[in-house]
Amino acid sequence: PTFDTMGLREDLLRGIYAYGFEKPSAIQQRAIKQIIKGRDVIAQSQSGTGKTATFCVSVLQCLDIQVRVRILLILRMTCLYNICVCVCVCVCVSNIYFLLQVRETQALILAPTRELAGQIQKVLLALGDYMNVQCHACIGGTNVGEDIRKLDYGQHVVSGTPGRVFDMIRRRSLRTRAIKMLVLDEADEMLNKGFKEQIYDVYRYLPPATQVCLISATLPHEILEMTNKFMTDPIRILV
Ligand code: AMP
Repeated sequence: PTFDTMGLREDLLRGIYAYGFEKPSAIQQRAIKQIIKGRDVIAQSQSGTGKTATFCVSVLQCLDIQVRVRILLILRMTCLYNICVCVCVCVCVSNIYFLLQVRETQALILAPTRELAGQIQKVLLALGDYMNVQCHACIGGTNVGEDIRKLDYGQHVVSGTPGRVFDMIRRRSLRTRAIKMLVLDEADEMLNKGFKEQIYDVYRYLPPATQVCLISATLPHEILEMTNKFMTDPIRILV
């Protein structure tokens, strides 16, 4: 199995190879195809398996960065030489295509620590190097003003710790209207750190059809409770 046969976009494939990956790891082989199909996925896996690139590749694949807008241009020239004698009407109809940049936030990745949220942003930027993608990490302990400025500019993907992310949503700096994917990385660690309430708070602001991917080394009762609340017919992958 190779990355080439996974149906990934060209600019993303270039980023994957430029980053130095040659072949997908076991979790990447099994999970990416399900996530990009739109399925909710529970991946029971630990650090070192390639889990970060699994959801980063999947998120990048699902982004709309440019939309092609077709405008029907109708040019109408009317020359009236002499009323009643000669009326020349020339109608030109042509299609013109514009590429519009979209910078709405379409994916949100929650992680238990600032370091992990920062690493995820770096992996997204590296793999998305040929995609013109904007990614920002919203992490506690940093300047709120900087987060607000970056979010106002527009970020396709936001990674962050649940507390700061919820703060940004509540301030309406992080707009959730266009979010189509939520990733919960190291979900068991997030619960151990007491982020349960904030994760539920964030989830309440997301569009109802948001696809959810959850990565966790263990699946205790509280995680299963969360998967029942947030996920629809999830596929479970154990690596
Ligand atoms: P993670 O499980 O996300 O902590 O990743 C563990 C390490 O594996 C990281 O250093 C990744 O850069 C690396 N890695 C992930 N996927 C691949 C791959 N397909 N080929 C080579 N290295 C990889």
